[in-house]
Amino acid sequence: MTTTQQSLPMILDEVEVVRVERLSPSFVRVELGGACLADFGVDGPLYDQRIKLVLPHEDGPVPSFEGADDSWYATWLDRPVAERGHMRTYTVRDVVGEGPDTRLVVDIVVHPDDHGAPGPGCAWAARAAVGDRLVLIAPRRGDFYGGIEFQPGTASRLLLVGDETAVPAVCAILGHLRPDAVGAAFLEVPTSADVLTVPHPEGVEVVWLPRDGADHGAPLRAAVLHHLGVGAPAVGSDEPDEVDPDLWETPTYSSSGEEVEGAATVVGHDLDGIYAWIAGESGVVTALRRVLVKDLEVDRRQVAFMGYWRRGVAMRG
Ligand SMILES: Cc1cc2nc3c(=O)[nH]c(=O)nc-3n(C[C@H](O)[C@H](O)[C@H](O)COP(=O)(O)OP(=O)(O)OC[C@H]3O[C@@H](n4cnc5c(N)ncnc54)[C@H](O)[C@@H]3O)c2cc1C
Repeated sequence: MTTTQQSLPMILDEVEVVRVERLSPSFVRVELGGACLADFGVDGPLYDQRIKLVLPHEDGPVPSFEGADDSWYATWLDRPVAERGHMRTYTVRDVVGEGPDTRLVVDIVVHPDDHGAPGPGCAWAARAAVGDRLVLIAPRRGDFYGGIEFQPGTASRLLLVGDETAVPAVCAILGHLRPDAVGAAFLEVPTSADVLTVPHPEGVEVVWLPRDGADHGAPLRAAVLHHLGVGAPAVGSDEPDEVDPDLWETPTYSSSGEEVEGAATVVGHDLDGIYAWIAGESGVVTALRRVLVKDLEVDRRQVAFMGYWRRGVAMRG
């Protein structure tokens, strides 16, 4: 049964898993198909386009959005979790096919959990099989949806930084860049076996950083500081900043309510012209934010910091 909601400015519809591939120990690739995807699209490159998946609760029904209107989210939240399932955020890694055969490719991290059972998104991906049904919330061609944060403007040099949850976004961004793009991408993954092959412009160096047992974020932090020419001990204090679990700061939005418009252009060194896009675990992103914004005084308008998940905190929904 489909739940097409033509009255809403996005796709909110049932889709089916049409392909599953275990890319590596930590990544499961699912391909989602459905007639509604004929309407999928955005105005321009997808870059880090985010989508929502509403996954059925264990042994529960596929959540129904029949008759949904503008209050669909509040109405959905009001239902018991066994009925409404779990809403999780992911990235469109790729789009294949066309028309009614359009399929969205989504790469999902199958993560070990330090605090007990894996989250529902991880658990769903680990057992995903062709024929599984779920609900997709995604941009519909011709309607504004948002959800693309990668906006480098006229930057002359890129810095892309992500842990495994941001690997799909960075890989998608790399695939959409102009061939003459210049910069570097640092990607931290759980193990050496998770290093993927990704096409990228020649001028963008792609550095994979397998954790292989190190602390989450440690390889990323060391590599990014080195890239920026900053020695770790020389930068600020080692006091961890307070971590905003909803950390989301882009040139146009600040989760902490910081002034965005009118921020001074302070950069007085060779970071002029850089655009940094940094996503992953909130604590790791917060630490890198401190280096770029507080220590190196990079203009807020040159950076996007996004907490994709927070250690020990389940995503809402
Ligand atoms: C814009 C955006 C795009 C995203 N794109 C992707 C994507 O393409 N692929 C992807 O896999 N994720 C992506 N994420 C991250 C994903 O939404 C979170 O990891 C989410 O918490 C996973 O849900 P869950 O049900 O598995 O775990 P939750 O129920 O949210 O959390 C359960 C427990 O697992 C922990 N946890 C959550 N994620 C991880 C992890 N990766 N490693 C270790 N522990 C973890 C939590 O801290 C918590 O303790 C994205 C997030 C955002 C905001």
